[in-house]
Amino acid sequence: ARALMEGKRGLIMGVANNRSIAWGIARALKDAGAEIALTYQGDALRKRVEPLAAELDAVVAGHCDVTDEATIDAVFDTLKETWGKIDFVVHAIAFSDKEELTGRYVDTSADNFSKTMLISCYSLTSVAQRAEKLMTDGGSILTLTYYGAEKVMPHYNVMGVAKAALEASVKYLAADLGKDRIRVNAISAGPIKTLAASGIGDFRYILRWNEYNAPLRRTVTIEEVGDAALFLLSDLSRGVTGEIQHVDSGYHVVGMKAVDAPDI
Ligand code: NAD
Repeated sequence: ARALMEGKRGLIMGVANNRSIAWGIARALKDAGAEIALTYQGDALRKRVEPLAAELDAVVAGHCDVTDEATIDAVFDTLKETWGKIDFVVHAIAFSDKEELTGRYVDTSADNFSKTMLISCYSLTSVAQRAEKLMTDGGSILTLTYYGAEKVMPHYNVMGVAKAALEASVKYLAADLGKDRIRVNAISAGPIKTLAASGIGDFRYILRWNEYNAPLRRTVTIEEVGDAALFLLSDLSRGVTGEIQHVDSGYHVVGMKAVDAPDI
């Protein structure tokens, strides 16, 4: 697999710690020979991300908070100075107020709705605008979504609405950027215990439900998402764009859930 990403360079946004999906992707890409740059969000995460970056000989492209466009510009300026061009970007970023990731969607506030959409959906477009300029030899952009975009999942609420908009954005971006040989895809990952997931109400219950009902009868790992990302970010997927690839042990194909776990 090493040759798959040999000579390719790109940015991975969304590493918070070693349980992050973005970290699973970073490792898979590094193993395949890619050169990687990481961003971190704020000083608290800087301390976590810097040692992880060192493990992969990755460039630390600095602080990036997608609500502040100047910080996105600064990251892409750094990439331009360091590498001149890039081949891939991974967007593994989402946020919503924890208080609204429980209870009823109907109670969502306008403020948190806007904030959730800006961080979890618009930021992909914002990043794509800047990536386009550096992807002079074509490229591949990848984001992360969840089944709660397609079907109602308990507590996912406004994040489900934002992921639906994110999935639509993937398709519109793919259509706009295809002429420049830039592909845009998403992985719809099954539930994984990460920092972001811990903000979702009853997350343990969702994990158990997946174990009992997914065709593979288990949840997925960040390594498995990383391997699927390797496909979507490498030339193996050169004919694929605008795609929402599920990496969820097949959970999304099951129509009639038949959970029979005694303890859930
Ligand atoms: P995580 O907490 O490890 O990563 C979330 C990242 O988002 C963090 O690195 C955080 O710094 C970043 N982020 C949040 N607000 C930001 C902002 N304003 N600016 C810049 N960065 C910001 O959790 P994760 O589960 O690895 O999440 C990565 C992606 O995967 C998210 O889009 C999430 O919705 C998606 N996803 C997660 C699951 C799951 O079950 N964990 C399933 C499907 C999809």
